[in-house]
Amino acid sequence: MTLPGSEPVGGPVGGPVGRAVGGPVRGVVTGPVTGRRPVRPPRHLAELTEAERVEAVVALGEKGFRARQLAVHYFEHLVGIGPEGEGAEGMTDLPAASRTRLAAALLPVLLTGVRELTCDAGQTVKTVWRLHDGALVESVLMRYPDRVTVCASSQAGCGMGCPFCATGQAGLTRNLSAAEIIEQVMAAARVQAGVGGPRVGNVVFMGMGEPLANYRPLLVAVRALTSPSPAGLGLSARGLTVSTVGLVPAMDRLAGEGLPLTLALSLHAPDDDLRDELVPVNTRWPVREVLDAARRYAGSTGRRVSIEYALIRDVNDHPWRARALAGELNRRGRGWVHVNPIPLNPTPGSRWTASNPDVESEFVTILREAGIPTTIRDTRGREIDGACGQLAAGGTDRPQALAQSRP
Ligand code: SAH
Ligand code: SF4
Repeated sequence: MTLPGSEPVGGPVGGPVGRAVGGPVRGVVTGPVTGRRPVRPPRHLAELTEAERVEAVVALGEKGFRARQLAVHYFEHLVGIGPEGEGAEGMTDLPAASRTRLAAALLPVLLTGVRELTCDAGQTVKTVWRLHDGALVESVLMRYPDRVTVCASSQAGCGMGCPFCATGQAGLTRNLSAAEIIEQVMAAARVQAGVGGPRVGNVVFMGMGEPLANYRPLLVAVRALTSPSPAGLGLSARGLTVSTVGLVPAMDRLAGEGLPLTLALSLHAPDDDLRDELVPVNTRWPVREVLDAARRYAGSTGRRVSIEYALIRDVNDHPWRARALAGELNRRGRGWVHVNPIPLNPTPGSRWTASNPDVESEFVTILREAGIPTTIRDTRGREIDGACGQLAAGGTDRPQALAQSRP
C-alpha cells in the first residue's frame, strides 16, 4: 500500500493488517541517497546536550530556559510535531509566537510513517519510516504482558553482508543520526501514551544496521534515552540491548562507557570456518576474539551477555556445534552469558531455512546440560516481516532485515 506521493515500500504481505500511516509528505522526496551528496538530517533537540539546547534557543532569540520547557514537552509530555507544525499549539507555556518557530527549528519532522503493519492481535506493530532524504528504515513496537519493547534501527541498510540477513543483502545506505534513532523510540512512546497503554521500558537495537558501526550517534541516542527526564526519556540502561556482529574495538569501547547496557553478540557459529561464511566480519575478528571481548564486557559491566544464534537447518545446528559452543563459553567462566537460539527467519530466495524443532530442542538441551542458560528467542512479528531478516527498505520492493527479541 502506498500513500499519495510516495513510492511503494516493501513486498507483498500476506495475512496481517496493513495500512498507511502518517500525514502528508512534506517537501520533495528525493529518494534514497544514491548518487547524491548526502545531506545531513536536520538538527533536533533530542540529540543536543542540555548546554547545546540552551545555546540553540538563545541563538533563536529566545530565553535560555525555553530549552528546558521544550525538553519537558518532548520527553515528558511526548509531544510530537507534525509536518505543518501540528502539536506545537499545545505547548502553552511557550509564547504563542515562539511555539511553531521553536518547534520548526528544534523539533523538526525526522520520520514520516509510510506504512504500518500489525500482528499478534495488535500487540506487535511494525512501522516503515521515510527519512528526510527518502531512505527507509523500520521499527517494531512489541507489547508483552509485563513490558513494552521497541526494536529500533541504527542504520538504513547494513554493510556487514551476513548472507542469511536480508538487510545485509542490500548493503548500507547510510548511518542514522542520533535523533533519527531516538525518534523511533519516541514514536512508540507516543503510540503507547495515545492508547493509554504501559510505557515503553525496553529498547533493542536489533533493527536494521550494525549499531556499533554507527557508534557515536548510537551513544548519543543511548544517553538521551537513559538520561533522567526532562533531559532525556529516563529509561533504565539495563532495559537497552545493543546487538552486534562483533566489532571488537567498539565492544571494548562500549564496555568503558560506564553504562549497564545489555550486549548481545550475534555469534551463529562456534567455529571460524563456518562463522567466516555466516558473518563475514569474522575474518577480521574471529570467534576467539569476539568471545574474549564479550567476556570482558561482562566482566567490566557486570551485565550478562546474550549470545544470539540463528539456527539454520543442517548448517550450524549440529549437536557437535552446540557442544563446541558450550565449551567456548564455559572455558571463559560461568554465569557471564546466556544463549538465545533464534529459529532462522528465511529470507526470500535463500537456500537456508530454520532447523527442525527436534534438532532445535536437542541444541538447547545440550547447552542447558552444560550449565548455560538458554532461551529460544521469541519470534514475534514474523508474519508481518517484523522478525529477523525481513524488513523492507531502500525504496525497492526488496525485503530487508529487522530483528526483534525479548530483551
Ligand atoms: N547488526 C546487528 C543487529 C541487527 S540484526 C547484529 O547483527 O547483531 C539483529 C539480530 O537478528 C542479529 O542477531 C542477527 O544475526 C539476526 N538476524 C538477522 N537476520 C536473521 C534471520 N533471517 N533470521 C534470524 N535471525 C536473523
Ligand atoms: Fe547487518 Fe546484523 Fe544483518 Fe549482519 S545480521 S547484515 S550485521 S543487520
